[in-house]
Amino acid sequence: MVSSLEARDDRQARHPRGVAGVTAAYNAGAMRILIANDDGYLAPGLTALAQAMQGLGEIDVVAPEQNASGTSNALTLNRPLSVFVAQGSAQQGFRVVSGTPSDSVHVALTGLLPQRPDLVVTGINQGANMGDDTLYSGTVAAAMEGYLFGIPAIAFSQVDKGWQHLDAAARLARALVQQLLQQGLPEAPFLLNVNIPNRADADTLPRRITRLGRRHASEPVIRQVSPRGETIYWIGPAGDAREAGEGTDFHATARAAVSITPLQVDLTDHAALPAWRGRLERPGPLEGGA
Ligand code: MN
Repeated sequence: MVSSLEARDDRQARHPRGVAGVTAAYNAGAMRILIANDDGYLAPGLTALAQAMQGLGEIDVVAPEQNASGTSNALTLNRPLSVFVAQGSAQQGFRVVSGTPSDSVHVALTGLLPQRPDLVVTGINQGANMGDDTLYSGTVAAAMEGYLFGIPAIAFSQVDKGWQHLDAAARLARALVQQLLQQGLPEAPFLLNVNIPNRADADTLPRRITRLGRRHASEPVIRQVSPRGETIYWIGPAGDAREAGEGTDFHATARAAVSITPLQVDLTDHAALPAWRGRLERPGPLEGGA
């Protein structure tokens, strides 16, 4: 039995099929695609994404039972998870996990799927995941969970809530995946964060490779009094874009382009290492050498 922490150490692993193997599998219609989301298995964006991937390979959908937006990379460690197969006509065959987006992908990769997928796609999220949103997003986290296991992954979000022009967003998602597969996937696993303007022509809009912008601090909490007389707090909305200059995701989507940001997971502040060494390091030999 491999613990989840050990399992997560395959994050550096390359795909066992190799890039050429994935291309061959794609050409043979035998590519394996895992689909997840954070809005829950009943969300229209999930059905749209699953339909968009039809014909590109063998599709598995494993998604959270409840809307789990804003849960980031949370894994459920204090209770067991259950999985059931959805019966609704739009969700036929979807596997539903009583946990978070990361739980869904984690359980899929470490116990549910008979074989490792070649690609993880998530979304299509209701609402933007740009700038600092990416730290809280369950849509990005579900894709990141695949990436941490060494699997290429793409997170898709519509910029505005309300699902307007979801069909066009789904066509864009399919076109992007298809283009990547026809080109042959990059050698190393990657994590792409895609934000799609809610427009009928989303699939033919310009596309820009962007960096994350930044948001202002969130709006204040909303304080109310519950029916039992307790003071309760609702987390306020995200702040507006603060760093939205040219080259950012905010800039591109505000000008009717699809934003594609390649993400990495290393949070180390590499530029600050020397300064912190000067402040806090204490010299002395380390046990075991080096
Ligand atoms: Mn969401």
